[in-house]
Amino acid sequence: MINMDLKPAEIVEINDLEQIHEANKNGIVNPSRTIRMLNRIVLDITYECTLKCLNCNRLCGVFPRKNEIDMASIINFVDHSIEMEKKWFHIYIAGGEPSLHSRILRIFKEVQRYIEYHKKRFKTNLIIKYFTNNHSPRSRQVLKELPDFIINNSNKKDANTPFKPICVAPLDLGYYDDENLKPCQELYQCGMTLNYKGYYPCAPAAAIDDVFIKKDMAIKTLKEVTFERMAEILHRTCRYCGHYFEPVGYKRNPKLMLSGTWKNYLEKTYRMKKTKRGS
Ligand code: SF4
Ligand code: SF4
Repeated sequence: MINMDLKPAEIVEINDLEQIHEANKNGIVNPSRTIRMLNRIVLDITYECTLKCLNCNRLCGVFPRKNEIDMASIINFVDHSIEMEKKWFHIYIAGGEPSLHSRILRIFKEVQRYIEYHKKRFKTNLIIKYFTNNHSPRSRQVLKELPDFIINNSNKKDANTPFKPICVAPLDLGYYDDENLKPCQELYQCGMTLNYKGYYPCAPAAAIDDVFIKKDMAIKTLKEVTFERMAEILHRTCRYCGHYFEPVGYKRNPKLMLSGTWKNYLEKTYRMKKTKRGS
C-alpha cells in the first residue's frame, strides 16, 4: 500500500544537503551511548494510524498499513525479559496509533506483569510511556482506560506538525560513510524496537525494512539480540534514513521531504499499485 495521492505542493524534493540543513539544536551524536539501545525499548504494536503525517518516521503517512504485533510476541517479550533478568530503563508503547491494536488492554496487562517483576527484582524506577495521537474516539476511549502505571504522552496536534526528514537518504546527498557509521540519538533516547516482525535497533530502521528494504532483518527473539547484530541492521538502514543528518542539523517540515532513492521507489510502487487496480 502506498499513499501518493499527494498534490505537488505537499512534496519537497531534496537534492542537496543545504536544502534541509539547519544548525543542530539537538546536541551532538555520541556513538559511545549507542549501547543504551539495549536497555530501552519501544513496542511498535501496530502501524495503523488515523493521522497520515507525511514525514512520519514509521512511514505510516506514505505507506499506510495495518500490520499489528500478535499477543504471542508480547508475551514472549515479557517472559524473556523476566528469564533474562532484563533491567529495562523504559518501555514505550507506540505505533502507529497504539489504541488501534485489537488487544491493547491485554497488552497493558502483559506490560504490568513485567513491571511487577521489575519492582521486586530491581526496586528502581521504570518508565512506561504510551504514545497516542489522541485524535479519534477510539484513542480517547483507550486513554480513559489507561492504567495509572503508564504515563500518557499524547501531544500530537495534527498531521501538519513539522517533522524531521525520514525519506531523505544520506546516500543520495553524499552524506554517508559506512566505515564511519554514526547512528543518531534515536538509539539511545528511545532504544531498540519490537514490531510485528521482531527486534530492531530503532523504530525508523524497523519501518524502513518493513516498507522499503523488505529483507525481514528482524531479530526474532530477545534472547538473540546482541549489539553486533543490531549494528549489522544499522549498516543497512541508516543510509536511507533522514534522521542520519542529525549531526549537521535538519529543518523540520510538514511537507513530504523526498530524496531521489525514495522518490523513485515511491513512484514505482505507486505505479504498480495503480496498474494492479487497473486505473
Ligand atoms: S500520528 Fe504518529 S504514527 Fe500516526 S502518522 Fe503521525 S507520526 Fe506517524
Ligand atoms: S536508522 Fe535512522 S533513526 Fe535509526 S539510528 Fe540510523 S539514522 Fe538513527
